[in-house]
Amino acid sequence: MTATVTVIGGGYAGITVAKALDDVADVTLVEPRDTFVHNVAALRAVTDPVWVERLFIPYEGLLTRGRIRHDRAVRMFGSAVELGSGDRVTSDFVVLATGSRHTYPAKLDVDDSVDARAKLWATHEALSRAPRVLLLGAGPVGLEFAGEIKAAWPDKHVTVVDPAPELMPGGFPAEFRAEVHAQLAALGVELLLGTALTAPPPTAPGHTAPFTTTTSAGAELSADIWFACYGAAPNIGYLVPGRRLDVTPELRLPGSDTIFALGDITSVPEMKMARAAQRHAEVAAANIRALIDGQTNLTAYEPAHDAIVLPLGPHGGVSYAPEAGVLGPEATVGIKGGLFLDAYLDLLGAEAAR
Ligand SMILES: Cc1cc2nc3c(=O)[nH]c(=O)nc-3n(C[C@H](O)[C@H](O)[C@H](O)COP(=O)(O)OP(=O)(O)OC[C@H]3O[C@@H](n4cnc5c(N)ncnc54)[C@H](O)[C@@H]3O)c2cc1C
Repeated sequence: MTATVTVIGGGYAGITVAKALDDVADVTLVEPRDTFVHNVAALRAVTDPVWVERLFIPYEGLLTRGRIRHDRAVRMFGSAVELGSGDRVTSDFVVLATGSRHTYPAKLDVDDSVDARAKLWATHEALSRAPRVLLLGAGPVGLEFAGEIKAAWPDKHVTVVDPAPELMPGGFPAEFRAEVHAQLAALGVELLLGTALTAPPPTAPGHTAPFTTTTSAGAELSADIWFACYGAAPNIGYLVPGRRLDVTPELRLPGSDTIFALGDITSVPEMKMARAAQRHAEVAAANIRALIDGQTNLTAYEPAHDAIVLPLGPHGGVSYAPEAGVLGPEATVGIKGGLFLDAYLDLLGAEAAR
């Protein structure tokens, strides 16, 4: 009898674990979106619409034996998963990989790829009409977005505000932050750290309309469009609302032998990254294979050290990993100039969409 595996969520972790188990198990991947969304490239898709099409990669080439079910988990009863359609799915193994949401456009907030494309084009158009841009948050999303905007429209005034005293949370050396500061200054990005807005801007995010607001330092700040670039939260409303999931070293839910959880929904102590989510998927797939074979010796996941490849526009950026140290724009563009698109086209068995 072939073991059955239900993977909930077809993001970076979900597609990796589903594909890795397709040859040994009967895999069902449950995902509400009609295509995979390569959200690593979402910010560039707003500034350079050539990337709008590239963001959406069909799921059809991912699995040879298994299937994709366009539905969403709404509740779990033990290891049974209730879907939005009302169906209840039971299987030998369940893998929870429903990831996280973030403010748009860092992560898309509509499931249908036609609507999502239209929204990205509308945001591009709104941004192109705004001479002054305000970004709230000097973490990777705010800084990457600032770099993309200045690369696409060098004449726009871009201001990044963050209440934290330094940019980029995480265990990064001073040399990394100094290089980020230097490149942002060269791009002409205005950075206001250690200060917050006294009230949210009066306009809706992503809409073009001039406004003036004040900072906690008492300064007036005027802009024509703004975006919130902070606030990732796990998608686990079908389980325990609002809290990341604790997992065992083998990436199982505590107390369960057959339910695994991967990627951004977990409380594994490391930066929430696609590459970490995919490493979780590899460990979980190895463990599910071992359990299918009747083995009891499972692999433990080692949390990753803080590391990042941070583009600041298509020609700039800074990277850091403990083993490589700080890398400047040339190396960063070498690693991530193509935003890893080819790797995901390969994984999903898809052709480039242009
Ligand atoms: C702008 C930006 C740039 C980034 N760049 C990088 C980068 O360069 N490198 C890197 O390593 N990381 C990067 N990250 C982080 C990376 O995107 C996340 O860590 C990654 O998406 C996590 O993968 P995941 O599979 O856990 O979840 P997700 O990618 O969030 O996928 C979750 C999937 O589950 C689906 N889902 C949600 N709820 C349900 C439900 N109830 N039932 C069924 N399915 C559901 C969603 O539709 C989605 O497809 C970036 C993040 C952002 C926002």
